[in-house]
Amino acid sequence: MDYEAIFQQSIERLKSERRYRVFADLERDASRFPVALWRPDGQADQPREVVIWCSNDYLGMGGHPAVVSAVVRAAERHGAGAGGTRNISGTHHPIVELEQELADLHGKEASLAFTSGWISNLAGISTIASLLPNCLILSDELNHNSMIEGVRRSGCEKQLWRHNDLAHLEELLIAAGPDRAKLIVFESLYSMDGDIAPVAGIADLAKKYGAMTYVDEVHAVGMYGPRGAGICERDGVMHRIDVIEGTLAKGYGTLGGYIAASASIIDAVRSYAPSFIFTTALPPTVAAGACAAVRHLKTSGQERARHQRMALLTKHALRAAGLPVMENSSHIVPVMVGDAETCKKASDLLLERHGIYIQPINYPTVAIGTERLRITPTPRHEEAHVADLVEALVDVWKTLGLPLTEAEIIPLRRAEPEAVCTYPEMKRAAE
Ligand SMILES: *Cc1c(COP(=O)(O)O)cnc(C)c1O
Repeated sequence: MDYEAIFQQSIERLKSERRYRVFADLERDASRFPVALWRPDGQADQPREVVIWCSNDYLGMGGHPAVVSAVVRAAERHGAGAGGTRNISGTHHPIVELEQELADLHGKEASLAFTSGWISNLAGISTIASLLPNCLILSDELNHNSMIEGVRRSGCEKQLWRHNDLAHLEELLIAAGPDRAKLIVFESLYSMDGDIAPVAGIADLAKKYGAMTYVDEVHAVGMYGPRGAGICERDGVMHRIDVIEGTLAKGYGTLGGYIAASASIIDAVRSYAPSFIFTTALPPTVAAGACAAVRHLKTSGQERARHQRMALLTKHALRAAGLPVMENSSHIVPVMVGDAETCKKASDLLLERHGIYIQPINYPTVAIGTERLRITPTPRHEEAHVADLVEALVDVWKTLGLPLTEAEIIPLRRAEPEAVCTYPEMKRAAE
């Protein structure tokens, strides 16, 4: 058996389908985000300055001084590691504090931190569903891979409901009957199209038909709601959702994931989930950094305001230039390309010719034929960055012969532009 050849062939297959992924070697600069250094392949000694337009560090919190200093202080006081799994030796005070902060954020009795958002979905969904007798899981068809893995791992029966389609969800709830345990799993904000779930409608249906609800707020925590608790907070329905899952790695700029729920649900997952029990806890550095980010964004709204403003501005500017921006009401700015190879070429051109970093989004992250550039403006992008982006994208579209749509001039809402979120300002807000 030629083992090596099998792996090489598997890679060749991806390459022939234009799905082979290449990662750019980037060096983020905390003080200059979204500016970073890029080391082109084979030219590691000649780094070039680029502007990042596809970061999921949506608010730039990864470099926020309150977060960075919390990490440094925790390292100095507690060292680098957690010391073990929570069950053996790894529960430490910063992680306890973080969990109290997260429970409070979502108005729940308790929360549980995991090493990633991916693991929190795997552990949360699989454990909750498998503890319910003969549970039927009703899963939105566009749910993230981590939720699909959680559903799979539970071993329970699953039915998919059409994306964000309340009527279809209701049909399935009726068909399941009142006596069966039912768990509805969905996301509040879908990160590829940037569309938002009808959370209140889902909560209504859950109540009417006696189902439990589990929401992934990964792309909303830190960014929506008066205290940054997400779409459920913004829509006033947080208390009507049983389990809220989030990440500490996107809006909160660090690493880790969590679920927040009633004390008994959290205690059950803590006690039964192998992906919690048998792995080392988040280190104190990460827990303290995440905790600082959550705390800061509970009281400071300026990052959220500027974030929304920059997303809106970017969408308007791209549309005005005739670029095919997909419609949505969130901070995600998807620009449709529709072909894997062209999408990759567009991304390469942006980086090489214009110093703009936007990874191509291809299958299986999105459906074939809907390949796109996914742009994520942050509060730290400046108006001048947007102007450069528009110019670069128009050049790339023309170079590749991609169609520009009829320019769509939408007058921008007249408002005083928010100040760019620079460190001194953020610092003042934090004090
Ligand atoms: C990124 C993502 C996760 C995983 O979170 P990590 O903290 O990055 O592991 C979960 N759900 C959704 C919808 C995501 O996009």
